[in-house]
Amino acid sequence: MRIAIVGAGAMGSLFGSMLSMVSDVYLIDPYEDHVNAINEKGLIVEQEDKTSAKFRIFAASDPFQVKQGIDLAIIFTKSYMTAQAAKTALPLLSEKGLILTLQNGLGNMELIADIAGKQRTIAGVTSHGGTLAGPGHVRHAGKGPTYIAPASSNTPSINHIKDIFQAAGIETIISQNLDTLIWGKLIINAGINALAAIIRVPNGTLLTPESEKIMEQAVNEAVNIANALNIELPYDKPFEQVKEVCKKTFANKASMLQDILRGARTEIDVINQAIVKKGRELGIDTPCNAFLSDIIKALEATWENR
Ligand code: NAD
Repeated sequence: MRIAIVGAGAMGSLFGSMLSMVSDVYLIDPYEDHVNAINEKGLIVEQEDKTSAKFRIFAASDPFQVKQGIDLAIIFTKSYMTAQAAKTALPLLSEKGLILTLQNGLGNMELIADIAGKQRTIAGVTSHGGTLAGPGHVRHAGKGPTYIAPASSNTPSINHIKDIFQAAGIETIISQNLDTLIWGKLIINAGINALAAIIRVPNGTLLTPESEKIMEQAVNEAVNIANALNIELPYDKPFEQVKEVCKKTFANKASMLQDILRGARTEIDVINQAIVKKGRELGIDTPCNAFLSDIIKALEATWENR
């Protein structure tokens, strides 16, 4: 199978490295220092136990360097680049080629489906985590199952994708319920990410009565919307689940915190702000998510002055 990863930062590089053990993988990313380091010295992947391995993978900052006939394109840009990444991926696909997104937040699947067609789109969520340590160097920050689901009942079988992922050591489960997957992860991210970025603490430090009060309100607002949309969540007690994730990822810095610290744009629009937008459409109040979103936007807007 020929696989192109569009957006080869932390997660794209991580998945690319694992899939390169069983497939032909091409990494596409405009970050030239990273691309050059991978081509010149190989991609270094460091595991949580500090062991590391080097992977020889072709990387390109110009997608025209990748030959057409790609069977699977995986979009791993930040969500605000999804449409652009899908436009890069589409002309590279073989006749039966598919596009997969494992990005966080609401709306990525819809953006890709608008460009490539729903029948060619697959979406899902992953419990793997990664951070980019520097050009050509990624850290594997956590492991867990990956769930994938077709965007439409007309999407051809995705069993072969599951098989390739499994062979690469990526535990993969096919689901038919995309909304459950996406909203299950969205609610966790909505509870943790923005608050961690605002008060600038790792996930475990959010477990204080003061922070929990805010997290619980953000989570309950999101759950009200999921309920109004008849979306079944993958857990019974959402706020308990959020606290459980904080415990399990005690020392991790949420990606939104990492973005705020390095002055990068966050994914607030597809997380808390997306909940606010859905709330407006449905006539459901989401004051906590609105306030968290406004503060993150204010932080983004004042980065250069700090
Ligand atoms: P990242 O910033 O490390 O990587 C994104 C990469 O996309 C960058 O290298 C950037 O140069 C590249 N890019 C930007 N515009 C592009 C374009 N037009 N075409 C191709 N590449 C482009 O981000 P990440 O942490 O790998 O996250 C990617 C997505 O995965 C996000 O939606 C994130 O929420 C999600 N996610 C991240 C984790 C994690 O642990 N990091 C876990 C699960 C899901």
